[in-house]
Amino acid sequence: MTERIYMSSPDVGELEEQAVLAAMRSGWIAPLGPDVDAFERELAERVGVAHGVALSSGTAALHLGLLTLGVKPGDVVVTSTMTFAATTNAIVYTGAEPYFVDAELATGNMDPALLRAALTKLRDAGENVAAIVPVDLLGKAVDYTSILAIADEFGVPVLADAAESLGATHAGKAAGSFGKASIVSFNGNKIMTTSGGGMLLTDDEDFAKHVRYLATQARQPVVHYEHTDVGYNYRMSNLLAALGRAQLSRLDEMIARRREMRELYKQLFAGVAGVEIFGAEGDEHDNVWLTSILVDSAVTGWEPSDLAAVLAVDNIESRPLWKPMHLQPVFAHLGGEINGASAALFERGLTVPSGSALNAEQRERVAAAISIFVKEH
Ligand SMILES: *Cc1c(COP(=O)(O)O)cnc(C)c1O
Repeated sequence: MTERIYMSSPDVGELEEQAVLAAMRSGWIAPLGPDVDAFERELAERVGVAHGVALSSGTAALHLGLLTLGVKPGDVVVTSTMTFAATTNAIVYTGAEPYFVDAELATGNMDPALLRAALTKLRDAGENVAAIVPVDLLGKAVDYTSILAIADEFGVPVLADAAESLGATHAGKAAGSFGKASIVSFNGNKIMTTSGGGMLLTDDEDFAKHVRYLATQARQPVVHYEHTDVGYNYRMSNLLAALGRAQLSRLDEMIARRREMRELYKQLFAGVAGVEIFGAEGDEHDNVWLTSILVDSAVTGWEPSDLAAVLAVDNIESRPLWKPMHLQPVFAHLGGEINGASAALFERGLTVPSGSALNAEQRERVAAAISIFVKEH
């Protein structure tokens, strides 16, 4: 069997290897250390916020962000249905109830009109909406201009899930800088990785301090171990922060390589009626983390799964878009403002290999497999 081609595998090499080795030799093995401090500073600076708190995952960052906003059992948190389960899981950890908002068809991001409808309905029902968690889908920032204005109008704070969008912008501002706080992820498949990790970003010093406090077992500042809150062990280790710093220094280069993949797919599907590149409009502002195609099978005569099956024969990974949260068995009982857009995207979408680590030969294999499929259909 030929070597497997993944959708988005980690892009690490010599630079990352040296960074981890140097951190290990520095003696800063035990969780925190100078690379954590520097990584927090460098990423916050890159995104244009005052504070970063490096954590064990993006999910941990969401969890502590929600707790720091005061989200508690009985509250409602309004969030995107078109996302990875981590967003909704973190809301459930707090004891609050997620309420889903469907997407704009063109971007897959939270639809502002539906957000307004949701907040109006929840307010009229006397619910306490403690936070809004919009998600920047596949590296395209949410329409924060509209979302933040509506959130303000209803007096609800926004925790932005920018796990997929580091390096993207909206209205000239970096993803990760919107709302009361934002979170990013450094999971292995994301635009940059620490093998596993995340960061909470905010301009609010007290907010950052509280997240840092909760993440280190909520220790009171006294010599003995004194606790007045339930804490968590959610900090990022110094070795992984060293890896993150090396990755951050290559972020723009890695985004540029993903953009080459995006352009390749635009060419491959250019003349194919019934196929479009998902979110292509305005993608110069995106980090193009993953490229997906949308297939109108009434026009093409084939389904996304037909292409997926042909790619699989060549050992090339592809996958449908996120299955919306309101369609997940575990969350299907929860409420929401649903218009069918995310369900349609799930039906029509296929995500194709997009990683920055793909070499020329791997790109060639993907291109050849798609060209042949397109010709034969
Ligand atoms: C990856 C991801 C997360 C979770 O990040 P982890 O670091 O894997 O915990 C949260 N939200 C979205 C939208 C993601 O894609």
